[in-house]
Amino acid sequence: MTVLAARFRDRFLLPEGVVYLDGNSLGPLPKATTSRVAEVIKGEWGRDLVTSWNKHGWIDLPRRVGDKIARLIGAAPGEVMVADSTSINLFKLLGAALALRPERRVLLSERGNFPTDLYVAEGLAALLGQGHALKLVEADEIVAAIDDDVAVVFLTEVDYRTGRLHDMAAVTAAAHARGAVMLWDLAHSAGALPVDLHAAGANLAVGCGYKYLNGGPGAPAFLYVRQDLQEEIRMPLTGWLGHAAPFAFESGWRAAPGIGRALVGTPPILSLAALEVGVDLLLEADIEELRRASIALAERFIAGVEARCPALRLVSPREPARRGSQVSFAHPEGYAIVQALIARGVIGDFRAPDILRFGIAPLFIGEAEIDAAIGHLSAVLERREWDRPEYRKRAAVT
Ligand SMILES: *Cc1c(COP(=O)(O)O)cnc(C)c1O
Repeated sequence: MTVLAARFRDRFLLPEGVVYLDGNSLGPLPKATTSRVAEVIKGEWGRDLVTSWNKHGWIDLPRRVGDKIARLIGAAPGEVMVADSTSINLFKLLGAALALRPERRVLLSERGNFPTDLYVAEGLAALLGQGHALKLVEADEIVAAIDDDVAVVFLTEVDYRTGRLHDMAAVTAAAHARGAVMLWDLAHSAGALPVDLHAAGANLAVGCGYKYLNGGPGAPAFLYVRQDLQEEIRMPLTGWLGHAAPFAFESGWRAAPGIGRALVGTPPILSLAALEVGVDLLLEADIEELRRASIALAERFIAGVEARCPALRLVSPREPARRGSQVSFAHPEGYAIVQALIARGVIGDFRAPDILRFGIAPLFIGEAEIDAAIGHLSAVLERREWDRPEYRKRAAVT
């Protein structure tokens, strides 16, 4: 086992015999989450009822967990809020970005960005009805495509299919050089690799709570607004908890100071309590050490798969510094191969059209898991185990 996995693996509830290479889709359950959530349910909700909002600090939870996430992404206290889903936070911040550049009409992203990011932008542009347009180019064409019409550049730092890592500082600098706002989606970055929003000078960011942060299914997401923009931005979703005085029940909306205006409605306390446990666990680890372990494990995985599974083609960047914390291979029968692997206890996932995706979360993955995954993968291919009707039947969630 790596030093990290030796230290942290036992802190997660992982079923015996399962190699979990899908922590990038749904992080596993930290053991402490069960007792913490039970305590919030029984000891807080059950016993103290509505007084818990004050007595147990529920009202401060979105900001408190946000401040903790800030430490993982190179932000300062007061710059990160936990709220809503990644999709909704994207809507909020893309809307805020467009309001910062009212004379510009283009939202620029890459064609391969995660669909919800693109769908949200499309819907926002249509809603505004002011001629805003979504412009999509290939990843390596982004910088050249930033012109004076671009209001906001929005990108996911780590590509969900290939794991390719953008140069956050370089792209942000290019956006700023042309006067555009830069928004990063950290869904596959936060908790997976060191992120430094301050060093990059990023304006805005969003990220996901249920992937590498291990917050649980449907965990609330987070958003980041750089300190100097907080008083300037106009949020497109103006709910009562983003009001300067929610309990004054005034008839008109006034923005809460700072990041407070990024809240919309009542936070999901049970989910937030679970997310806090996942984030606390990550904060115990050294993120630089985590990155080194992730790279070593990914290199081991790539070498092993390439040696033993010649039918698979690496689609992740070969250079570790250009990869996030996942390794992807392509194969025309990718879906069935992943199903056959799952039947053997190795859980990865499939992303259309032909990608087998393996997330490497070094808090609970060590060399033994990587070696087992390579062994099972080569057995599935050599014995054509994937070639069975039950493995070709697509489930609702892939
Ligand atoms: C996982 C992911 C999301 C998820 O959005 P939800 O609103 O939580 O469903 C969004 N964007 C990217 C890039 C993702 O990887």
